[in-house]
Amino acid sequence: MKIAIVGAGAAGLMAAATIHEHNPKAEVFLIEKNNGLGKKVIISGGGRCNVTTGLRDIREVLSKYPRGGKFLNSVMRRFPPEAVYDWFEAHGVPLKIEDDLRAFPLSNDGHDIVGAFERLFDGSNVRVWLNRHVVKIEKQGSGYRVSFKDGETLDVERVILTTGGQAFRHTGSTGDGYAFAESLGHSVTALAPSLNSFFTKESWPKDVSGLSFEKARLRTRFEKAYEFTGPFLFTHRGVSGPAVFALSSLVAFETYDAARPMRLLIDIFPDLSEEALIKKIETLLQAHGKKLLGTILDFLMSKSLADVVCRELQLDAHTRAAEVSKKEMRRLAAWLKSIPLSVVGRGAGDEFVTAGGVDLADVDPRTMESKISPGLYFAGEILDIDGFTGGFNLQASWAAGRAAGESASEGM
Ligand SMILES: Cc1cc2nc3c(=O)[nH]c(=O)nc-3n(C[C@H](O)[C@H](O)[C@H](O)COP(=O)(O)OP(=O)(O)OC[C@H]3O[C@@H](n4cnc5c(N)ncnc54)[C@H](O)[C@@H]3O)c2cc1C
Repeated sequence: MKIAIVGAGAAGLMAAATIHEHNPKAEVFLIEKNNGLGKKVIISGGGRCNVTTGLRDIREVLSKYPRGGKFLNSVMRRFPPEAVYDWFEAHGVPLKIEDDLRAFPLSNDGHDIVGAFERLFDGSNVRVWLNRHVVKIEKQGSGYRVSFKDGETLDVERVILTTGGQAFRHTGSTGDGYAFAESLGHSVTALAPSLNSFFTKESWPKDVSGLSFEKARLRTRFEKAYEFTGPFLFTHRGVSGPAVFALSSLVAFETYDAARPMRLLIDIFPDLSEEALIKKIETLLQAHGKKLLGTILDFLMSKSLADVVCRELQLDAHTRAAEVSKKEMRRLAAWLKSIPLSVVGRGAGDEFVTAGGVDLADVDPRTMESKISPGLYFAGEILDIDGFTGGFNLQASWAAGRAAGESASEGM
């Protein structure tokens, strides 16, 4: 029996490895249009590849997927983060879990993750076809015909579609698989960028560009309210960091642009109530009555942000601390607890994943097989599944890729 895996990213690599490990005699064609395997895997995590998460509670892991968490339940329990961790270590890639629970190769090099697969496929029945661009997949009797750009075709019994999403298109993930899935009877939900930074109408973030906070609470409201607390930073065009990525994921399908900005409120003192912050400011001002307001603010925040606060609230940084009114203290605290920004766009093209994809209603969550076209399987970002940053997207691809590989090689 011949199995074609279209797309050698995270999910395709794991599907091929699984078929090889379960049934070394299976004839696998791992088809990739790039000239190498796992291009996006290699650049992921800033080139370090945040391969999975250190979280162990599956319910908590599943809660990190704004879309697809429930669907992943079965495959994630069968190939959870710790099994993924062990798999890579058993395949010669020592890993480590950092303080924030992200898992990386000990070498901090994403090439090592892909290298594990290359070693496994070397001399195996997995035929790696690079520089092969699939343009069509058709049903052919009980199997499938895969057509390539150069006019050649390949007839197989089973196909695993792992062409990814359409984020970071220069890595080869250009969304081709959505059209293949539709041509085989599947529906594709609305698609939207996710895990992106935000651009703001206000230009002042550039004055504090690079300033980061370990913990900030971000809030916004459309018909529904959204909030996320986590690491955050200002950039030269707006805001970014894990909390922004997570919020972008939650609002992926909301509309916001220059004409309809998203009102973002940032609390950079999430562990203090507004009253407690006022008290803190008051205590500082009283203790240093002869100092200037600007100097006192430097105790609370960076000088660059203190300048912004004074400008935005039209406070004179040269006022003596003792002369700052209670009303001004209240305005100051209110601003720091709810810094208002108008988000007019996303960092176009710099999103990490695509939200939306092949409709999960038509895919069996245990086997990843199509409910519409037997012998067709899906795994990875092509599906309507996306997670927060922290290794969750790769984890979903490994788990679904494993399940697709297991079931596609069954009965051979
Ligand atoms: C910059 C960046 C950093 C990221 N960092 C992390 C991270 O640290 N941790 C994490 O968990 N997630 C991360 N992600 C997300 C994660 O990389 C993806 O979700 C994951 O790679 C998806 O795997 P996949 O196998 O579904 O698709 P991909 O890895 O995108 O692979 C799809 C493959 O299919 C091939 N293909 C597409 N169409 C065709 C065709 N017609 N013919 C032949 N081949 C085709 C593509 O060339 C590509 O190689 C990051 C994403 C980006 C963009």
